[in-house]
Amino acid sequence: MKNKNTQVFALGGLGEVGKNMYCIRHNDEIIIIDAGVMFPDDDLLGIDYVIPDFTYLEENADKIKYLLITHGHEDHIGGIPFLLTQVNIPKIYAPAQAKELIEKKLIEKNINYKNLFIYNEKTNLKTKYFNIEFFRTTHSIPDSHGISISSPNGTIVMTGDFKFDFTPIGPMANIGKMAEIGKKGVKLLMSDSTNALSPGISLSESVVDENLGELFQNNKNNRIILATFASNIYRLKHIIETCRENKRKVALFGRSMDTSIDIAIKCGYIKDKNIIISAEEANNLPPNKVCLLCTGSQGEPLAALSRIAGGTHKQIKLLPNDVVIFSSSPIPGNSSSVSKTINKLYLKGVKVYTHGDDVGIHSSGHANQEELKLMIRLFNPEYFAPYHGEYRMLKTHCDLANLCNIPKQNTFILNNGDILNINKDGIKKQGHVQAGDIYVDGSRIGDVSNIVIKDRVLMSNNGILAIIINIDTKNKKLLNTPLVTTRGYILVNESGELIKDIESYCKHIINKRLNDKKVNFNDIKNDLINSLMPMLNERTGRVPIILPIIMDIKEK
Ligand SMILES: [Zn+2]
Ligand SMILES: [Zn+2]
Repeated sequence: MKNKNTQVFALGGLGEVGKNMYCIRHNDEIIIIDAGVMFPDDDLLGIDYVIPDFTYLEENADKIKYLLITHGHEDHIGGIPFLLTQVNIPKIYAPAQAKELIEKKLIEKNINYKNLFIYNEKTNLKTKYFNIEFFRTTHSIPDSHGISISSPNGTIVMTGDFKFDFTPIGPMANIGKMAEIGKKGVKLLMSDSTNALSPGISLSESVVDENLGELFQNNKNNRIILATFASNIYRLKHIIETCRENKRKVALFGRSMDTSIDIAIKCGYIKDKNIIISAEEANNLPPNKVCLLCTGSQGEPLAALSRIAGGTHKQIKLLPNDVVIFSSSPIPGNSSSVSKTINKLYLKGVKVYTHGDDVGIHSSGHANQEELKLMIRLFNPEYFAPYHGEYRMLKTHCDLANLCNIPKQNTFILNNGDILNINKDGIKKQGHVQAGDIYVDGSRIGDVSNIVIKDRVLMSNNGILAIIINIDTKNKKLLNTPLVTTRGYILVNESGELIKDIESYCKHIINKRLNDKKVNFNDIKNDLINSLMPMLNERTGRVPIILPIIMDIKEK
């Protein structure tokens, strides 16, 4: 029997900033919007990415019609290579800039996928149940779009990441089209909540441009080293323009910066190729004739700027009169690594400008409160569900919607997996699909579980203690004194007595177990762990991971 409901839910992106993935389903058709990754917190040791759990999509693969991409940021496209190895996606539609970035990723991962297409504002996709349109928005990467999907139960609009900028560097957002879609009637609006806690209106890119221009003017005689987000192509475009006006050549540092400038040239955002020079050429020019454009604005230890600051960069050594400009602001969680880099720069005596109260040299790609209200007013939806944000951002965004005349009972704060059921009676939160975090360690997906992470945390906090034991099981005989070795727990040289005690204690425990009828290694291991834990805690105040290694050896 056909179900009359349209369902909307997230596999990632709610209660977090990252791994965005949203689904709309009506009967046997599913449309997916975005497939992102999240960069893990520091407590997920050794984990490179977190991706959404694709189980639901694997189980319903036959229903998937499209994966639609709003824009090319990692939290929206980074999961695609992993998704494609697990789930058959018939077609992916992405804007031009995102398509370039996705293609690069697929080539890097050796994935041969033929069904990646470009859409633009004129594109109109139709399926049995859905009619899909796109509208241009402004964001910190070109070609960002929102998506309007009309379903048998009304129109669902997802804004994608956006801000409003009335004097952008790139094209204007298509406010007219948004209002038009709004006029026809929108059932549900899902809107970007990243900056819902910031009052007012975000700084225009043109103002950032002007301020950066002034810094160039004020530091005419110095070499300028500028760090910014490589993906913010419009920013790169106006930095390069500023360099041209100030008769400086530009040298690029960092792989993602190279990639980004390549794509910007290919897509026509940057026209003057000759302004780009090599590091070697930059070193041969007078300092006031060059600008070094680097990655590392987040203090990433391996990125170009951190290496330059630390004096470990192969080609660039800091000069005493250098000026370093951070055209960025730390992403939450990165502040300490950024200040480490800044401290190193100060230590070298160079002048540092960061975005702050005295000078606005960065602007976020996400809307502040007044812009969020404008978005709500343009679409004037019946129901509202904030997305792309942590809980407090979602909650504050709901409050803003209430101020814009959306009744409280028509706003929803959802978790990943929660289903919004839409039918002719309205929208209700009902049911749940499987959603969660999958850890990617290197290129291995999902084989690192919470237990592994816990072990890594324990090891990093308290170290590890291994006990190597040789037993002749046939003759029920312990062949040597158990050998104890440790890393990150105690200093072996200074703890000879403790180690001896542990060894003889182990000997005692093992010998007791060897009296059992049948020698069972697991019993011995459990005994060792259970009795060593209190002993070690008493002696050192800490319990490391205890790892008994038993080998069955025949006595000769
Ligand atoms: Zn974005
Ligand atoms: Zn995003």
